[in-house]
Amino acid sequence: MWTSRLFWKLFLVYGGLNFAVAAMFPLLLSSWQESLLVNQVQDRLEGMALILRAQVEDDLVSGKHDRLDSLARRLAREAEVRVTLVAADGTVIADSDEDIKIMQNHSNRAELIAAAENGKGSSIRRSPTLGIRMLYAAIPVKQNEQLIAFVRLAVRLDTLDEQLRQRQRMLWLCTFGVAVLAAPITYLIVRSIAQPLTALTASARAIRSGDYKRAVPLRSRGELGELGTAFDQMRVDLASRVAELEENNMQMSTVLGGMVEGVLAVDAKRRVLLANRACRSLLAITSPQVAGRNLLEVVRNGDVDAAVNEALTSDQPHTREITLIGPPRRVLSLFATKFAAGSNHGAIVVMHDMSELRRLENLRREFVANVSHELKTPLASIKAYAETLRMGAINDKEHNLGFVDRIAEQAEYLHQLILDLLHLARVEAGQEAFQLAAVDLAPAVERCVTQVKQLAEQKNILLTIVSPANPAKAWADSDAVFTILSNLVGNAVKYTPTDGRVEVRWWLEDGEVIVEVQDTGIGIAKEDQQRIFERFYRVHKARSRELGGTGLGLAIVKHLSQSFGGSVALTSEINQGSIFRVTLPAASS
Ligand code: ADP
Repeated sequence: MWTSRLFWKLFLVYGGLNFAVAAMFPLLLSSWQESLLVNQVQDRLEGMALILRAQVEDDLVSGKHDRLDSLARRLAREAEVRVTLVAADGTVIADSDEDIKIMQNHSNRAELIAAAENGKGSSIRRSPTLGIRMLYAAIPVKQNEQLIAFVRLAVRLDTLDEQLRQRQRMLWLCTFGVAVLAAPITYLIVRSIAQPLTALTASARAIRSGDYKRAVPLRSRGELGELGTAFDQMRVDLASRVAELEENNMQMSTVLGGMVEGVLAVDAKRRVLLANRACRSLLAITSPQVAGRNLLEVVRNGDVDAAVNEALTSDQPHTREITLIGPPRRVLSLFATKFAAGSNHGAIVVMHDMSELRRLENLRREFVANVSHELKTPLASIKAYAETLRMGAINDKEHNLGFVDRIAEQAEYLHQLILDLLHLARVEAGQEAFQLAAVDLAPAVERCVTQVKQLAEQKNILLTIVSPANPAKAWADSDAVFTILSNLVGNAVKYTPTDGRVEVRWWLEDGEVIVEVQDTGIGIAKEDQQRIFERFYRVHKARSRELGGTGLGLAIVKHLSQSFGGSVALTSEINQGSIFRVTLPAASS
């Protein structure tokens, strides 16, 4: 309470007003009393002057001034006044208090001038002779309308002044008494107004800072009490509305944040209202604060801006596909539509990432083209050999069997190609039924090596197996492990020229089984290493086909390894050789 500015303001204003009203009494009364007292004294003096004039009129008219001085002195003594008789020219004839010989001419005295004009005159001034404030009253003495002299009486005002001062002191004392008595009453009244208002202010401040729990203390009655009740009800309503809004907001943020689609909302002036997480990531928006900023400044993409423009200027939703150069390069499908919420309107853009879909579409197109191409070549050979036989070569005893062998070879190649395609398709689609078990690498490697032994011997390639001291087992499907190894070992022998070396080794490392197939073959150039695991990608097209390769082997290796949570990597130098490294999860022993 004591710190409330309102309290002090009201208290000082009310207290000041009380005092001012009380102070008006002494101020007004003192001057009124003074004039009242002066008038009374003046009337008394004039009355006495009239009586004195009657007594001295004859002497003044006849010019007998002898006894006037003693008369004046006697009267003055008895009536406690000063008596002065002044001739019409201002010469003092008699004076009760002073020696007339030393007195100045009185013709310029205000009361005498007024008396000559109006029949009576008075004046208050400091007496030059006595140095005291005096009240003078004078009346003229006339004979046949001829001014002969003046009778002037004067009284000291210092006793009157003292009386007035005493009364004034009393009045001021009363004023202070009233003010002091009024202070506690003022305090109580002001407190009854200021206290509820201070409490309301504190509650309003608390609400502004988000604290809706603080109830308004409702002690007053009347209008202020009603105001407090209404305010408290408002606080409760506001609290529940804010909670509702926060809940809605949270739900909306959760939904928007969890959406895979990007959502961007802008107002009619193209200022960003919101951009969800997906939108920020798709449009690579790094700035944390986007709300309220200009759209182009935030997204820096003319296509998004154009889509928003279209939506804002049309009643129809607008769709378009845009490509972001990146990196990463992305294809986005935008769906922009106008919205109106109350007096606000703007546009909402929903964006889908089409990059993967478009990539898959491209892959499918490429794949279909590749498969067609792969099938076309052997089929064309088969067709040509069959045609040659039909045209008469069937009777050519020397070559006919050779042609049939070529047809069988191409048919075998087609068969292998289709088997590989089906295998790859099943692995990719996750349809291959794997039987996961702890697969010992040693027998699988032995089998692969046996498989290529003949070819290796033909090319005089030294095949080495380096097995680990402790048996390493991978957690995988044994057929799949064999497929992986046979592809890698087969390729190593295929792409290593005569007198080369191929080594297969494996070991356990950090809970993984690592298998490496190293050759001293032709190697693979850096630019091809990225693409070597793609379907139908061949570095040495002619040699691969000549050796019966389908171009699918490494793609199968990659997909199979990944199916078990593993991976495949390549290190290669052209004409130096290659190392294919397959990592598979180890079986826990
Ligand atoms: P392919 O059936 O043609 O061997 P792969 O998918 O197994 O198909 O291999 C793809 C291509 O990678 C091959 O055509 C070949 O050019 C290259 N390649 C694979 N293994 C090796 C290797 N050990 N040394 C050099 N080149 C290889």
